[in-house]
Amino acid sequence: MAIAWAVPSEDDAETAVNAVIAAGRAAAARHWVPATSGNFSVRIDETRVAITRSGVDKGALIPADVLIQSIDRPLLPGSSAEAALHLRLYADSPEIGAIFHTHGLNATVIGRAHVADGAVTLHGWELQKALAGITSHETHIEVPIFANDQDVAALSLRVADRLAEPPSAGHIRAPGYLLAGHGLYAWGRSAADAARHLEAFEVLFSQILLLRTYQP
Ligand SMILES: [Zn+2]
Repeated sequence: MAIAWAVPSEDDAETAVNAVIAAGRAAAARHWVPATSGNFSVRIDETRVAITRSGVDKGALIPADVLIQSIDRPLLPGSSAEAALHLRLYADSPEIGAIFHTHGLNATVIGRAHVADGAVTLHGWELQKALAGITSHETHIEVPIFANDQDVAALSLRVADRLAEPPSAGHIRAPGYLLAGHGLYAWGRSAADAARHLEAFEVLFSQILLLRTYQP
């Protein structure tokens, strides 16, 4: 017999849609989703997510801009092609509750600058403790980087294969990855975790860029 609190309801769907709208507005206010870019999703239950449809201004989202998508079904009409990247992550990682994708300036540039390395390492920054499970600035955190690709199905496979492998020795894998010259995917157990990770990544990348360009 199902436990009452575990039964998905339309309230859960509405809560997820509202969390997507809030995340989109917050990202737009910080200029991380220029010109209708980016996409945002929040898990409703085991099988469904709420996710932004293609081509909408993330700063002006309304409930009609958010689709209720089954994780194991083909993309609904009006979906962003990149929704496939969200669905694969949800399918592979039942603990993920929200995935936010942005085209912020710092993440986009850092991804392109380090694409040949396949990753960028966060180390020595206090703010890395904003990432779930990280308790020290001394931890080495690996953020995978993938070459951008308009073939999203192929890209999704490359991402899934890489994330299934352990990080480099001595590193902890970040709750996110970069697409070179494109942007950032960040996730968390909840929408609040994913939002905190998104902001931490963008600021950490800005700190790396500033440190490299600063001439004492
Ligand atoms: Zn994108």
